[in-house]
Amino acid sequence: MVERINALLKNWQKRNISGFYFPDKEKAIEKILELIPSGASIGISGSQTIAELDIVDRLSSRGNCVFDQYKKGLTLQESRQMRQAGIGADFYLTSANAISENGELVFFSAFGQRIAGIANARNVIVICGINKLAANLQDAVKRAREYVTPLNCRRLEWNTPCVKDGICRNSICLFPEYKRMCCQVLIIEAETAPDRLKVFLIGQPLGF
Ligand code: SF4
Repeated sequence: MVERINALLKNWQKRNISGFYFPDKEKAIEKILELIPSGASIGISGSQTIAELDIVDRLSSRGNCVFDQYKKGLTLQESRQMRQAGIGADFYLTSANAISENGELVFFSAFGQRIAGIANARNVIVICGINKLAANLQDAVKRAREYVTPLNCRRLEWNTPCVKDGICRNSICLFPEYKRMCCQVLIIEAETAPDRLKVFLIGQPLGF
């Protein structure tokens, strides 16, 4: 595994993506808190990984302005405004649905805010557990669609063909019969701006 991780870090370097490996989530949290200035604003995407890091409260309590669309008590309108504001924040925190050992990052999205944040924010930190590693891009896309999205559909109780048995039926998953979750796909192959995009790979499973 060590060799595969070192090869992945080198692949990211060649793609102008700053890759970091942390043996556990505590070390990754320390680095995030060190990297983001306490006055910076932060956008976040809906992510089980981010929830498991439990970092949003820590950032907010030390003074960061976190555009948290999931904060209790927000109206739908306020939540949408938070999502929108997060796209333009100083930092954007998210996780990928899958990463290939070649270094490509795969993100599926229903509404596209996450894709806008990742593609445009000044600083992006993508945090991923080791469970998201796939052998190649094809397997990474397969993981995102056939494993991750059905679990998300179940978690959020969306009316999709995969919600009952976890099997993707892409060709019939269309409106108005279904509320399709796989609407937009972002694959990052490389980055032009040095140091804009960081990936924190954590040596333990996080999210799904
Ligand atoms: S395309 Fe539809 S059925 Fe397939 S995983 Fe996405 S939401 Fe589920």
